[in-house]
Amino acid sequence: HAKGTGRDAYCFFEASMNANVHKQMRLVQELRLALERRELVLHYQPKFQAPDGPMFGVEALVRWQHPGRGLLSANEFIPLAEKTGLIVPLGAWVLDEACRQLAQWRYEGRTEWTVAVNLSALQFSHTSLIDTVRNTLARHGIPPQRLILEVTESTAMRDADASLAILQQLHEMGVRISIDDFGTGYSSLLYLKRLPASELKIDRGFVRELTQESEDAAIVAAIVALGRALDLRIVAEGVETIEQQTFLTELGCDSLQGYLLGRPMTVEALAEAMAQADAAGR
Ligand code: C2E
Ligand code: MG
Ligand code: MG
Ligand code: MG
Repeated sequence: HAKGTGRDAYCFFEASMNANVHKQMRLVQELRLALERRELVLHYQPKFQAPDGPMFGVEALVRWQHPGRGLLSANEFIPLAEKTGLIVPLGAWVLDEACRQLAQWRYEGRTEWTVAVNLSALQFSHTSLIDTVRNTLARHGIPPQRLILEVTESTAMRDADASLAILQQLHEMGVRISIDDFGTGYSSLLYLKRLPASELKIDRGFVRELTQESEDAAIVAAIVALGRALDLRIVAEGVETIEQQTFLTELGCDSLQGYLLGRPMTVEALAEAMAQADAAGR
């Protein structure tokens, strides 16, 4: 009967919800410890000059070597880190580790490389961001021009005026700003015009079916034209096929990033890939 079913359904719902909440709470505790236990690692995905030019930099993408669950990708714990505020210390660690690694590469002669680090809205609204960035660069002797901070439109829009002021200060410091996942947020063109950015990354969503959907091609062409007008470097993310690579180059993208050209990988794997590319004369 209806009443019993309803109560059973409710109890079931409550029980599974509790289990879920419990699981989440445990993950939060584990994530808090992960930082101390050095379970976080950075993988680096190369960025190339279009159409098949040299690699000029990498994007740092955080991974969690979870003791029980194996290697977790950013999507599996960054949202939780954002919800709990853990993203602030986690983000500071990512920045430090990426700069430390870049200093190592520079020491090995890769002085032309840039490293890109993703920022969340919460880090952004934290007043210490500017000091953190300045101190981290100084600690590792990195010229500010070699650091790219990737922010999404929605991150930058969270508190538009405050964000703009922070971005302006970072820009004045010499750090470069990249607008990530472009085309998925709601920023106005007026706001975009005021952003002191130097790079625009076309969201993977427009690249995925680019060669089948004429709408996507039209959107990418429009983004390229907009970027040109605003003097921004245009990067396409999520390039998985040669057809996409060719098409994006013809549409005028400056740089390409995606599984076709290089997956996010460990420092060791990247060194191996570079050695192979050198041997192949690329
Ligand atoms: P994002 O910055 O837009 O990074 C691109 C994501 O797409 C990465 O997933 C990358 O592994 C994946 N990807 C790259 N090329 C391809 C491709 O050709 N095909 C497909 N299907 N995927 C591709 P990941 O590493 O799981 O990161 C997801 C998101 O988590 C990132 O999106 C970024 O917003 C965030 N994130 C990653 N690392 C950090 C970090 O250190 N700090 C913060 N705040 N956010 C981070
Ligand atoms: Mg990114
Ligand atoms: Mg992106
Ligand atoms: Mg993304």
